[in-house]
Amino acid sequence: PLYASTGLDVWTMMNQVAASVNAVNLGQGFMSFPPKDFIKSAAQEALAEDTHHQYAPARGRPGLLEQLGTRFSEKFGRPIDPSSEVSVHAGANEALLSAFTAFLEHGKEEEVILIEPAFDQYTPNVIMAGGKPVYVPLRIRTNKDPSKEVISSNTWKLDINELKSAISDKTRILVLNTPHNPVGKVFTREELQEISVIAQQHNLLVISDEVYEHLTYGAAHISIATLPGMWERTITVGSAGKLFGVTGWRVGWAVGPAELVQPTLSAHTRIVFTCNTPLQAGVTEALKQADKNDFFSIQRGEYQRRRDRLMAIFDDVGLPYVVPDGAYYILVNAAAIKIPDSYIFPPFINERGANFRLVYFFVKEFGVSGIPPTEFYSDAHKPLANDYIRFAFCKTDEGLEDASKRLQKLK
Ligand code: GLN
Repeated sequence: PLYASTGLDVWTMMNQVAASVNAVNLGQGFMSFPPKDFIKSAAQEALAEDTHHQYAPARGRPGLLEQLGTRFSEKFGRPIDPSSEVSVHAGANEALLSAFTAFLEHGKEEEVILIEPAFDQYTPNVIMAGGKPVYVPLRIRTNKDPSKEVISSNTWKLDINELKSAISDKTRILVLNTPHNPVGKVFTREELQEISVIAQQHNLLVISDEVYEHLTYGAAHISIATLPGMWERTITVGSAGKLFGVTGWRVGWAVGPAELVQPTLSAHTRIVFTCNTPLQAGVTEALKQADKNDFFSIQRGEYQRRRDRLMAIFDDVGLPYVVPDGAYYILVNAAAIKIPDSYIFPPFINERGANFRLVYFFVKEFGVSGIPPTEFYSDAHKPLANDYIRFAFCKTDEGLEDASKRLQKLK
């Protein structure tokens, strides 16, 4: 069985390591600040309604489907039918699992292209659905030395020839993630165009994880579904947790043509049947309020300020990083950190390789925790990320200042 022999997931493990030394937790990407009052009120008011406590329709509450339909009609520049082209899921994660389950057949070794670093849920979700992950890593293309200099996230490139050679007659799905976790790369129109040509040539389904769509810092987020010939073959996945800073609400969605959303919805119905009713109502109201008070652009400004502060903190202590154009993570290159030969690691870290040792040492030594990005790579490609630590900046100002103080030890 897939899970019989696996240890802790990286999130639980690193939260425990962080707690063991009372570290400033810049690891898992949850917000350490509360949601805005209008978001909490939307949930409270939804819970107060007598009609919001029984099963919602499997596809989702009509009010939320309606809101999402309108929103995506504008974004995609085409009319989207909320009754057939949208479904609500228990977080983007379950939307992805449902899509894999809907389109992969057990026993056929159907292949799914994952672009590395690939969010750690993709691989087990593909395998659970009976598919076989095939990995294509982003390659750093720059004359700069990433261990000594700050580089742009746009220097992490998908090599189109490498992508082409990873495709076989068993390839069924390509998973895209833009803005990208953990690189912070926002794929450009040209890059998406190259991918879309290949998707069409090989008749691939594209599952596009766009949960950080609203968090870009200068770069424009483009949905691959809006490129010519792509609507027909793309399922776009989004998340209220990321949109409103409420990762515990577990409300996400999938948008695409009825032929793609219907099977995804059928899988969803068998996995969780339906999502919680009151928070779907809460998200509906929060979406209405957000548009009225320009919430998303204000929020973007707040995240940009946090990003700039965390970058300045690493500038100050002399560790180079990858400048994120989107999402809320910074990959820091910690090649300069030297671990004493005599340092003893617990077996649960030691067995996970050099990058886990680096991150563990960093957390214990400096009291600031991050995530080992090798967890986002297949075994063959893990060495590409050995020097990196991922830090999240969806954190309070106090948390970031505390991190800054602790990191002075690096100087
Ligand atoms: N998406 C968040 C991150 O990358 C949370 C992941 C999780 O807890 N599964 O940190």
